Amino acid sequence: MIAIKSAREIEIMAQAGRILADTLALVASRTEPGVSTADLDAIAETFICRHLGATPSFKGLYDFPATLCTSINNEIVHGIPSPERILREGDVISVDCGVCLEGLHADSAVTLPVGTVSPEARRLLQVTQDALDAGITAAIQGNHVGDVGHAVQRVVERAGYSVVRELVGHGIGTSFHEEPQIPNYGKPRRGPRLMPGMTLAIEPMVNLGLPQIRTLDDKWTVVTADGSLSAHFEHTVVVQPDGPRVLTPAPVSAEA
Ligand code: MG
Ligand code: MG
Repeated sequence: MIAIKSAREIEIMAQAGRILADTLALVASRTEPGVSTADLDAIAETFICRHLGATPSFKGLYDFPATLCTSINNEIVHGIPSPERILREGDVISVDCGVCLEGLHADSAVTLPVGTVSPEARRLLQVTQDALDAGITAAIQGNHVGDVGHAVQRVVERAGYSVVRELVGHGIGTSFHEEPQIPNYGKPRRGPRLMPGMTLAIEPMVNLGLPQIRTLDDKWTVVTADGSLSAHFEHTVVVQPDGPRVLTPAPVSAEA
């Protein structure tokens, strides 16, 4: 059963989404060599909790211990912030975060360059962002979940990269993870049909090398099996009669 959100619920999710987008912009502005992932986590948690009624969605979700997932280089998702993980020039760091407001969630992620990164890393980030944009564009009334995955996969594979299969996007609302699952691959016209009021977290995870993954001994951090770089971008989107609306848009001042 895929929940259809009311106009009021969507407005609350949009408010949560704005706080979340501002959080990620703040984290981006503080991302530089010498900063630890625990520093970024503290910055994000403090900022979110400064907003009346807003809480970090991740903290305690499936017993995750932090506000951010911070995943560096070959880490794909679910990295745990630590004072011992210090960012270095040339790293890329994926920052994933959720905000809960009045019992409704928003979910977004960005992958950020630390200082100057290799041309290869820059291209991976751009392609992953383009894949997310393509997925969002396909999230229209009457399309199916498979159209979203197909759009993402096309951009990624045309660029010579690979899509992670085991981890997927998802519906989002009163629960952080709701139906439907949204794979980053698929066939057009397959899967559940998209209807106005569905709220979706679309989140391509793209590996520079092979698609295979493994999970580290901390039971959280997911890395590329071949050690290649990985990137992750995510927005929470609502399907509307006049097209998709992104509920977690980057603040205008933070856009390049
Ligand atoms: Mg996320
Ligand atoms: Mg998500």
